[in-house]
Amino acid sequence: LEWLYSFMVRLRIPGGLLKPEQWIAINDVAGKHSTGVIKITTRQTIQLHGILKSHIKPTMKAFNLAGLDSIATCGDVNRNVCCTANPSESPVYDEVFQYAAKISEMAKPKTRAWYEIWLDEERLTEKTEEDPLYKDKYLPRKLKVGIAIPPNNDVDVFINDVVLIAIIENDKLVGFNVGAGGGLGTTHGNPNTYARLASILGFVENDEEKILKVVYEIITVQRDFGNRSDRKQARLKYTIDKLGVDRYREEVEKRCGFKLEPARPYQFTMRQDRYGWVQDYKGKWHYTVFVENGRVLDDEKIKLKEGLYKIAELGKCNFHFTTNQNVILSDIAPKDKAAIEKLLKKYKIIEHTENASAIRKNAIACVALNTCGLALAEAQRYLPTLLSKIEPLLEKHNMKSEDIILRMTGCPNGCGRSPNAEIGFVGTAYGKYNLHIGGDREGLRLNTKFKENLDEAQILETLDELFAVYQKEKKENENFGDFSYRKWIL
Ligand code: SF4
Repeated sequence: LEWLYSFMVRLRIPGGLLKPEQWIAINDVAGKHSTGVIKITTRQTIQLHGILKSHIKPTMKAFNLAGLDSIATCGDVNRNVCCTANPSESPVYDEVFQYAAKISEMAKPKTRAWYEIWLDEERLTEKTEEDPLYKDKYLPRKLKVGIAIPPNNDVDVFINDVVLIAIIENDKLVGFNVGAGGGLGTTHGNPNTYARLASILGFVENDEEKILKVVYEIITVQRDFGNRSDRKQARLKYTIDKLGVDRYREEVEKRCGFKLEPARPYQFTMRQDRYGWVQDYKGKWHYTVFVENGRVLDDEKIKLKEGLYKIAELGKCNFHFTTNQNVILSDIAPKDKAAIEKLLKKYKIIEHTENASAIRKNAIACVALNTCGLALAEAQRYLPTLLSKIEPLLEKHNMKSEDIILRMTGCPNGCGRSPNAEIGFVGTAYGKYNLHIGGDREGLRLNTKFKENLDEAQILETLDELFAVYQKEKKENENFGDFSYRKWIL
């Protein structure tokens, strides 16, 4: 008898966009081969858990038939490319979004192994595969790319290894500020590991060849200079600190054959999702659905999975994931809006989205226990309960409508982006969390550890005290993150 192995499969979905028939395929695969829960991740894609070993191949084949794959969603390569999700953000949205797919394709490993292993493609018998980007060594560690469209930093662009910020002048995409060196993962007790926000290297004009070249060479510098002897020091953030930002830029410029221009001005004013209906510049409608911790399932409160399936069956909208773990029903023609709204009401999805508190809608939790092997504590299974106890505190201190960014992870790896939340919880042991405060609302400043190893009672007691001081001493329009930074961190 063999062990009862079960696996997680994560899809490669650049920019997080699916056609309705692809959502139907994922729903069907989830029901047939996994736990049934469709998990929207913080990287704008989906994961299915609990896939038994014998079910992996049928799962991959079903994904392939739907035009989906899981290539390079794990391993020391470029993982998924994230992009600001809501098409209503800018008139140049489509143009920016195309770069996510182009970068993903450019940085995809060239090996046919995925097709050989899962789709029974004929195996190569001689070593003929060439991969100029990864060569025969891949990268020292995983790499992530993020693209943001100001003023919304919903993708938390600065936590990525490679960063592109769209620069828009007079409603035209003139280019991107490019950066490198973000990453949030640390290891408890290892002072040589740290969270870091990316450094801006410069500006590149809107020339596709040039933009792809810069991204490509940022990756090759990491490939050639990254630390391959210590995995805890192997991410690009450590390489850029070792070389220095100027030296890293010079190396990128040398390999590109052209210089980067000085970075152009931009401003982020938010990083929350725009819940509910919004209309874009072309007149299309988009409805952002609140999905608590990205878990699409049917439970006693709401039949979210069934409702989204019925909406997909109409074939009148795309499914667009956000890095805040929600889904936007996107690109809806005005004539189709009523049909979708009818189903949103029938399945109480509108009610569910509108009734959730501000802090709950902005909260993120990673998978953690019981499916993540690295977890030290609960996150997605516990955060909803904890929020139900924090909400009365917010009410008590007249903070109910504040858009506080609160996040929880089951270990310091940072998948749930706790290190740049206004209130961040990082699991240390079962039922215990470090409390971090002082991050800002737009994702431009990391938070700082404030207290260690708190249990639930201590968390609630501490937050009660902090909220009371905030309410008493805050300046006009000062949000909780900025106040915490000024009062307790500076
Ligand atoms: Fe990532 Fe750690 Fe959460 Fe696992 S427990 S999902 S490794 S942050």
